[in-house]
Amino acid sequence: MGLAKVLQRIEQAARRAGRDPASVRLVAVTKGHSPQEIRQQVLVYGNYPLGESRVQEALPKMAELEGVEWHFIGPLQRNKAKFVLDFALIHSVDSLRLAQTLDQKAREKGRVLPILAEVNLGREPQKHGFLEEELPEAIAQLRALEGLELRGLMTVAPYTEEPQTVRPVFAQLSRLADRYGLPERSMGMSGDLEVAVQEGATLVRVGTAIFEPD
Ligand SMILES: *Cc1c(COP(=O)(O)O)cnc(C)c1O
Repeated sequence: MGLAKVLQRIEQAARRAGRDPASVRLVAVTKGHSPQEIRQQVLVYGNYPLGESRVQEALPKMAELEGVEWHFIGPLQRNKAKFVLDFALIHSVDSLRLAQTLDQKAREKGRVLPILAEVNLGREPQKHGFLEEELPEAIAQLRALEGLELRGLMTVAPYTEEPQTVRPVFAQLSRLADRYGLPERSMGMSGDLEVAVQEGATLVRVGTAIFEPD
């Protein structure tokens, strides 16, 4: 489909929802793709933030592609925390222990690391993130960590062939972000980005739809 088509989908969904398309940012998910593919299929269109989900895969690409805003979107082990301090945003902070480690590493380097708290709204045991009822306490604790800046919430919706079925999940993430006064909502992927944009996404994480052949 390509990146241009993805931008068009985002814009149409935003307009239909009465939102300014500029209020939704595309994060191009580049896991599994080489620096050359990333240059040819993403960076020729502009300087979009790039999302990576594995530290070992991301680091060499970060060294090779300069001047890019990198976002970390996958499960993060605490022993890898020191390697993600150069990311512009960590979408996937899924536990207080991870947050405390990131906070410590960031403060050691005199940095403040922007983060999102991942919420497991589908309550799927195999998925990561805070449960909704854990959020009040978790958000208070995250806000108290001086090496981190909590900017919003992120969720990975349950997999479905029918994107409309995940609408309540996205609507709930938006309500929670509003409730806690958090500006960023990272939600929506290739298959369900329209629904996510309609429900208030500010960051959509799209991989397959950018890179798959027509
Ligand atoms: C891979 C990935 C995406 C992108 O999914 P696509 O269906 O390829 O668009 C989004 N979010 C996370 C957390 C991912 O790991």
